[in-house]
Amino acid sequence: MQTQEFRYVSIKSQDSLSNSEKDTMSHLRVVVVSDTHNCHTNLQIPGGDVLIVAGDFTCHGTIPEAVRFNTYLGEQEHKYKLVVPGNHEWCPDLIRPFMTNCVFLLDNAIIINGIKFYGCRWKKKFSSLRMNDSTAKTTHIIPSDVDVLITHQPPKGVGGLDFDEKRSRGNIKLTERIKVVNPLVHVFGHTHSKGGWFDDLDGCSTTFINASTLEGSKIQAVLRKPIIFDLYH
Ligand SMILES: [Zn+2]
Repeated sequence: MQTQEFRYVSIKSQDSLSNSEKDTMSHLRVVVVSDTHNCHTNLQIPGGDVLIVAGDFTCHGTIPEAVRFNTYLGEQEHKYKLVVPGNHEWCPDLIRPFMTNCVFLLDNAIIINGIKFYGCRWKKKFSSLRMNDSTAKTTHIIPSDVDVLITHQPPKGVGGLDFDEKRSRGNIKLTERIKVVNPLVHVFGHTHSKGGWFDDLDGCSTTFINASTLEGSKIQAVLRKPIIFDLYH
């Protein structure tokens, strides 16, 4: 059951545009979700040009779970569907061949209408699903010209997202790289307790979106609605 209305983010690059300017420009409508943990059929995903899934679309990262989610993706109308793995997709290379209805981003980019989207792979330690420094291994290769960055893990120091039920979840190396790259938007999930958007990272004009749809730490069918934003270009 969904508990909120659709949420619309006006990113900073649009704020400087007048309504008449917006009328003459093309835009991409982007819809973002994360951490659906097999509850995706309870979501109503609004239409748009690009659908982003920021990881944890399964509970155990199995092939049958991935196949079910891939089928669901195939039913969505968005022209582009961009997905990154979360820590619950513990072996992205195992499920990658079955993610046929999306672009499964593993440290690579796709350019859509001149806008560069880049998605990070989640590096797993085999000891636990709950590692928190895993994306640090690849943050240094995030290109400097990324417009929309997609990771599963949040950066450290944004929106009070560092701690979720007393566990640190933010990644300091990701924060450091974001301050260099300064993307327009950074989409992530992982911290279930604090969905929404944030712009409070010093020295950075990025709009941060925690797209987690689950509201609590336990896997449950209480979902926030997707976040939507428009990118003018
Ligand atoms: Zn999750």
